[in-house]
Amino acid sequence: MRTIPVLLLSGLACSACALPPIAIETDEAIVHASPQHADAARESVEIVRCYLPVIERALGAGCERPVIYLLDGELEGPAIGVFLDGDRTIRIGTEALSELRSTLVHELVHFGALTTRWKSLPNGLQEGLAYWLELELVELRGKLQASIEAPAAELRREVSSPTFAPSVDDGIESHRRSAALWVIARLGPGRLDELVARAELEGVATVPVEWIEAALPVPLDERAELPSLMELLYYDAHGALVRADVGSLSSAWKTPPPPGTVRVEVRALDLPTYDGPQAMWVGMSVRMPAVR
Ligand SMILES: [Zn+2]
Repeated sequence: MRTIPVLLLSGLACSACALPPIAIETDEAIVHASPQHADAARESVEIVRCYLPVIERALGAGCERPVIYLLDGELEGPAIGVFLDGDRTIRIGTEALSELRSTLVHELVHFGALTTRWKSLPNGLQEGLAYWLELELVELRGKLQASIEAPAAELRREVSSPTFAPSVDDGIESHRRSAALWVIARLGPGRLDELVARAELEGVATVPVEWIEAALPVPLDERAELPSLMELLYYDAHGALVRADVGSLSSAWKTPPPPGTVRVEVRALDLPTYDGPQAMWVGMSVRMPAVR
């Protein structure tokens, strides 16, 4: 869910809006929209085509084809986009069409996480994950480096807890959003992947807060740099490309390269530029260019 990070409550889709008929069905996505939103429907397919493969590779998990509804009206409550876990559809309210790319990428991250083993991350951290990838893939794109200040211990544990419940208070939610982003950034893609892999192995539905606390590197009061994602290209001894991943520099250098590879190169993700509204964060700073 985007703008106010309340997550995954059923019944938040616009109950007054009739669901629009199918406008577009392609190999990438099924988008339902009214005729007046035909351009936004086509843009949605392009966004899925461009970003979902990157999200899948960042999560190391393949997804189904997403079903997206562009509604003729606003969602109930403060959210402008939502992924409904029940029928596994993404719904975007009319007010989000002006920032369709960032909203849809955010919901595609929820879709990618909640339909794969990443669903075991607690709800508060699902928001942190969606905001991190939305920021990184749409606004920062490895070209800007952002960091976020450490939250209080109580707030850190609250957003990492399986019992996390969203608040309707905007001020509380903005601090929680920054806290969840700090936890996600501090854990980084490698540790996050280890946590969800362990939950899957041990048959645990939701990663316990104790695992998250134990996995966080110390000190716990330090600003966290948001991991910049890049393409990791693995070559054999003859210079042939063996595998291409999406990851961070730390995952490139800390994890062993795939068998048969002798060389890795990194390059910035090839994503379109974005000149839409920038997200505002409590405790976040941005500098340019990103440190490599
Ligand atoms: Zn969300």
